[in-house]
Amino acid sequence: TTADEWRQFDRSRVYMADLESSLYYSLRVEVGTHSTISGEPLSALKAYITVLVKYFPGRPVVMKLLHSLESWLKSHDDPELQYTALEMVLDNEVQTPDAALPDAWRWVSCQGSQPQFRGYPCSLWTLFHLLTVQAAHSTHTPVPDPLEVLQAMLGYIQHFFSCRECAAHFKSMAAETMSRVDSLPRSVLWLWSRHNIVNVRLAGAPSEDPKFPKVLWPPPDLCPQCHGELKGEHFWKMDRILEFLEDYFSPDRILQDYLE
Ligand code: FAD
Repeated sequence: TTADEWRQFDRSRVYMADLESSLYYSLRVEVGTHSTISGEPLSALKAYITVLVKYFPGRPVVMKLLHSLESWLKSHDDPELQYTALEMVLDNEVQTPDAALPDAWRWVSCQGSQPQFRGYPCSLWTLFHLLTVQAAHSTHTPVPDPLEVLQAMLGYIQHFFSCRECAAHFKSMAAETMSRVDSLPRSVLWLWSRHNIVNVRLAGAPSEDPKFPKVLWPPPDLCPQCHGELKGEHFWKMDRILEFLEDYFSPDRILQDYLE
């Protein structure tokens, strides 16, 4: 992004353009680097699409494409899948009416001050936070398994996320504590707290965008009520964090600017 193309955005909001771009990038770029997909990666891909269909609060046109992808994957019982076949569904060559995925990515609140910063990894975090929050609010019966979204995220990251170092770190964090997540609110908080551990680890690292320093999130200006102090020690008010995340990632608050 050059300075003239910079898109103004509100740092306290989530943008659908970033979320749709994460779908574009994950399905077309990352999954697209695998010419054939089978075994665990295929199961991981199916689980990822399933949580998107169930919990992604996307535009109707995008949801129709995701549904068509899910039914195609379900009907595909061959143990091996060719990406070229999947691509035909992504391009909607199966001709589901009014179904489409965006055909490019466009970062908004995930814009970086330089092309190597932010973008896709930022949007992938945003997508999965949103999915944990949506699962916690879902009216699906039966009530979702608290690990459903987290496992889908872990599977996706493990098999497709192109940052292999990130995948290794995330896998070890998950191995330590993810199995203890025993409720939907705890799945939201687990991902929030793991992301903060990553933020702390990466503060000052070469991958940090100097215009978007890593902080413990949400900082006090975004959520004053989330922070407490006792005898000079900072602590998080977990109930307030949960309320904040529910509001921040709620479908009604997602901004639709800069969509095609
Ligand atoms: P990001 O950390 O990407 O966050 C995106 C947005 O989410 C922020 O702008 C903010 O609005 C919001 N946010 C921030 N913190 C939280 C939180 N705790 N809860 C909810 N929302 C929050 N990079 C490496 O160099 N090494 C790694 O090991 C590594 N591991 C990664 C593991 C995963 C699973 C992912 C998805 C990414 C990883 N990355 C890693 C990339 C790194 O975490 C950032 O995504 C990248 O540096 C871009 O940072 P960013 O400033 O856009 O903010």
